[in-house]
Amino acid sequence: MVIIMLGAPASGKGSVAEILSNEFKIPAISSGDIFRKYISNGSEIGKKANEYMTKGELVPDDLTVELITSRLEEDDVKDGLILDGFPRTVNQAKVLDEMLEKKNKKIDIVVNLETPEDEILERITNRRICSNSECKAIYNTVLHPSKVEGICDKCGSKTYQRDDDKLEKAKNRLEVYYRETAPVADYYKKTGVLYSTVLSKSVNRMKDEVAKDVIDYLKK
Ligand code: AMP
Repeated sequence: MVIIMLGAPASGKGSVAEILSNEFKIPAISSGDIFRKYISNGSEIGKKANEYMTKGELVPDDLTVELITSRLEEDDVKDGLILDGFPRTVNQAKVLDEMLEKKNKKIDIVVNLETPEDEILERITNRRICSNSECKAIYNTVLHPSKVEGICDKCGSKTYQRDDDKLEKAKNRLEVYYRETAPVADYYKKTGVLYSTVLSKSVNRMKDEVAKDVIDYLKK
């Protein structure tokens, strides 16, 4: 099974992907996490990616595709995978189609999370992440705070705010999303795999409801 998560930054892709990953027993692969791992290792690839990430811009397609291609060679994806944060450009979507075709796989569903624009900035700037790279639990200081401020409920490590989640960078990432990534939904609409669904506090439809609908849809 191949599931793609689409949506604005902090729209809930990672949280929904985690639920789907547990349900279908397939790994959720976040391109942002892959980059952050290279950055924390101090590698040249990480340094290059960081130049773009710190500005809230997209890492160039060639580098991104290289890292995703090598991740898709790993053993754990043979029964399926969830991609969270890739593709983020129409060009990446086309390359992914070719990669999957070579592996005799096809996309089962593209889950496109639609969150009202005014909520997105709030979600980005209120997001906190567990600093333990094995845990990476996601919190929101308003919608879903940790029980003790600054401490992860699951593993007790400190939570932190990503630098690119701070207001000015978040605004830029949002602009980049509308310009580069929103058109990816139109690309998938044409191939008939697009499942657009609202995730919004204004209609009280959050990650669990969204994930349940996706699971029901896929099990039909
Ligand atoms: P994320 O953790 O998904 O919010 O990604 C954090 C940052 O990593 C983004 O703002 C981009 O700079 C970079 N990034 C993640 N995925 C991609 C991608 N598919 N293409 C280009 N840049 C990406």
